[in-house]
Amino acid sequence: MTITVDVREQVRQRANFACEFCGVTEIDTGGQLTIDHFQPSTKQGSDSLKNLIYCCIRCNQYKLDYWSTHANEPVLWKPRHEPHSKHFLELKDAHFTH
Ligand SMILES: [Zn+2]
Repeated sequence: MTITVDVREQVRQRANFACEFCGVTEIDTGGQLTIDHFQPSTKQGSDSLKNLIYCCIRCNQYKLDYWSTHANEPVLWKPRHEPHSKHFLELKDAHFTH
């Protein structure tokens, strides 16, 4: 299915024009970011607003179509529903690890 211009705009505004994973903004990158399927469409993810996430190219390329299907695989951070501290540890030098 195709994501309409209206849906794309809703996702952008809901994310306040910033990557929902890392926080980089459209101003930082000089253009619009990507619309990503949190649960990949190749793995039965839908085009619903609930499943769409505003995402910079770097985070999108890092995530690709990862989707855990077994209990022993890491699950993705859900940035609209979970604090980042559940998945990342801020180091003393202000870098993050997971
Ligand atoms: Zn990002």
